[in-house]
Amino acid sequence: MVILMPERTKSHRKASPAPRTVSSGGQALAGDKESTKAPIDSLMTLFIHELKDTYNAEQQLLAALPKMAAEAADPELGSALTEHLEQTRGQVIRLEKIFASIDVDPRGTRCAGMAGILEEGKGLLEQELPSSVKDAAIIAGGQRVEHYEMAAYGTLRAYAEQLGLHDAADMLDMTLQEEGAADVRLSRLAERRINAEAMQGVG
Ligand code: FE
Ligand code: ZN
Ligand code: FE
Repeated sequence: MVILMPERTKSHRKASPAPRTVSSGGQALAGDKESTKAPIDSLMTLFIHELKDTYNAEQQLLAALPKMAAEAADPELGSALTEHLEQTRGQVIRLEKIFASIDVDPRGTRCAGMAGILEEGKGLLEQELPSSVKDAAIIAGGQRVEHYEMAAYGTLRAYAEQLGLHDAADMLDMTLQEEGAADVRLSRLAERRINAEAMQGVG
């Protein structure tokens, strides 16, 4: 006897737009808690949705940055990534403070955008390339990450201001500044040295 289960999640999500009691089938805990989401029908609920998405994006980045730093041959690139990892931990704590201030559980959303950016970058990291070329590729992926985050935090900051959540807006702005600075630092490394080395195929 064969029991097909993965289909359930999809059809279930479509079938019940307002899941008050999502207890129709016991084993629905597949790691994707999508089905328990509240409806997104106001700026506040959209803010929460985007905040959760960004929280998950930062979690994914926490897992990826050590690998990127380990692959970097240029010591300055390595330390830029390691320092941004440290910053990212602080950004996660800021998000957790914001969630606590509005009494919302941060979990429950997966950021497909960050997953896609990291997936793209991984392909090149796993190949044998001259180290300078790999460094240039790490920067390319890293800057995609930073720009994606800057878009997210800019939006979140504006929503927080609009909602009168001024402490949250201040924290989101701090993170936005850090993402911008990380992006600038990567540009400088690329343009001052690494792109030229990659052009020569150094490493
Ligand atoms: Fe970040
Ligand atoms: Zn996302
Ligand atoms: Fe970042």
